Amino acid sequence: MASVPPDARAGTSAPLIRPKRETAEDAVRTLIRWAGDDPGREGLRDTPARVVRAYEEFFAGYLEDPVQILSRTFSEVDGYDEMIVMNDIRFESHCEHHMVPIIGKAHVAYLPDRRVVGISKLARLVDIYAKRLQIQEKMTVQIADTLNDVLQPKGVAVVIEASHQCMTTRGVHKPGASLVTSRMLGAFRSDSTTRREFLTMIGRSGAGPLSNT
Ligand SMILES: [Zn+2]
Repeated sequence: MASVPPDARAGTSAPLIRPKRETAEDAVRTLIRWAGDDPGREGLRDTPARVVRAYEEFFAGYLEDPVQILSRTFSEVDGYDEMIVMNDIRFESHCEHHMVPIIGKAHVAYLPDRRVVGISKLARLVDIYAKRLQIQEKMTVQIADTLNDVLQPKGVAVVIEASHQCMTTRGVHKPGASLVTSRMLGAFRSDSTTRREFLTMIGRSGAGPLSNT
């Protein structure tokens, strides 16, 4: 039984005790019966074990600490003080209301103040928050605020565009609709030139005003 570390940002304070694997597999059998099928038939016999393994992948972000990932920074940047932008970071997440996929891409930028992180760390940061139960607005804030807290740069910008399968495959059935969220901090919030430069770099300069989370 592994314990999941508390995540202050998610609003939980006590460590959660994970149920046993067999208990999780039993829950999947219950859902198969709820769907109207027989979990004992041949094609479904190994499904609970597969689903539980898939959950380990889908929700691997609970076992990683984003602050730790970002903590190794480089300060030898030869005075580089321009915007650092990582575009089109594809992610898969799951909505916390229906537990179905949210698939999209994140654009992450910061204006360094002496310290920078390895570029792959930005993608890791997105993945850690994506691989949890999410709502897109919360994920946008978590990515931006963590980057801002750990790196203390002059500014941070995060834009996420994603399609929610709870909207495309059920409920209102609106395939093709995507949700765009953003969070701008520091210079990206206060300086419209910096913000515009970022939006141009991610190809959203003509997209009109973004709602700021
Ligand atoms: Zn949903």
